[in-house]
Amino acid sequence: MTASTNGAHAFAVEPNPNPRTNAEREAELAHPAFGLAFTDHMARLSWTAGEGWSDRRVVPYGLIALDPAAAVLHYAQEIFEGLKAYRHADDSIWTFRPTANAERFTRSARRLALPELDPKDFLGAIEALVREDRAWVPAGADTSLYLRPFMFATEAFIGVRPSHTVEFFLIASPVGSYFANGVAPVGIWVERTTHRAGPGGTGSAKCGGNYAGAMAAQESAYAHGCEQVLYLDAVRGEYLEELGGMNIVVVFDDGTAATPPISGTILEGVTRSSILQLLADRGVDVAERPVALAEVVDGARTGRVAEVFACGTAAVMTPVGRLKGDDFEVEVGDGGAGELTMSVRAELTDIQYGRIEDRHGWTHRLI
Ligand SMILES: *Cc1c(COP(=O)(O)O)cnc(C)c1O
Repeated sequence: MTASTNGAHAFAVEPNPNPRTNAEREAELAHPAFGLAFTDHMARLSWTAGEGWSDRRVVPYGLIALDPAAAVLHYAQEIFEGLKAYRHADDSIWTFRPTANAERFTRSARRLALPELDPKDFLGAIEALVREDRAWVPAGADTSLYLRPFMFATEAFIGVRPSHTVEFFLIASPVGSYFANGVAPVGIWVERTTHRAGPGGTGSAKCGGNYAGAMAAQESAYAHGCEQVLYLDAVRGEYLEELGGMNIVVVFDDGTAATPPISGTILEGVTRSSILQLLADRGVDVAERPVALAEVVDGARTGRVAEVFACGTAAVMTPVGRLKGDDFEVEVGDGGAGELTMSVRAELTDIQYGRIEDRHGWTHRLI
């Protein structure tokens, strides 16, 4: 467990003059839905090409004024992150591998020609905001405070070049289970018409543009009775990449597993890397290698593929019960949640909520 060492003290706090009452907050926390309610404050920093980062503040949550010519509204020069704050049984509040998110934010910034934010500011904003809004970190099982840092181009200029002014914000939303009905297996639409990323593109950066390009396929998924989209590689259209916002892992009947490698076109998930470690700790042989769609579809039919799961911070691990494409539909296993999936999910969340030893030093105390 890492001690809390960051730049929270650098953030000036302007308390919200009209915070929600205790009763209003408790009502929100009683039924947290993903990403709909936000806390009373937000953290922010500003950047200009001449002066770098300044103006570190925690301010009342509220509207942002933008010039209609602000570059982000036209050219989508924007990146974001997602992580969570967890309340432990002793009421201390922790986050999970935040340095990995800070480093990924830096890599995303480079790819989108945005300024790099010092990880001290990234962590400082998180600590300063969670301190101010600590009452918003829910205590129920599987609940947490979802933290959403993001950065975007604000310069009022519709010529095409990297913006000379940028804003960073951090907002926070109390959340329960990502899926409204708890951990239930999802049906996946295998998308062949569009791709979320290609070689040299922005697939490995966490940027809003990747999501914008994936909305149409998400609609196809719903139209085909599926909840999520699985993308294939853009070069051959044969190999699994990832879901719109989650990585994917396939578990075989001999107890081995495979997941697509970090090749530049998929997002390097913190959840993915944590799960690979937990699987390795159990002696599970996990290959990071290209995984052909045909191998998974045939394997689901023959029983060679025992489990498939998707993973990411928001939903942690989601069993995949069904894969559907233009010309096939297969159940994975018996269509229910896989045993290994649920067991690793329990272990990971036990670490995040401080219920078992954190042997890899992943958790980071905020309060
Ligand atoms: C954020 C994200 C993930 C999951 O990353 P985590 O760090 O595990 O939350 C996977 N794929 C995409 C496209 C993402 O944006």
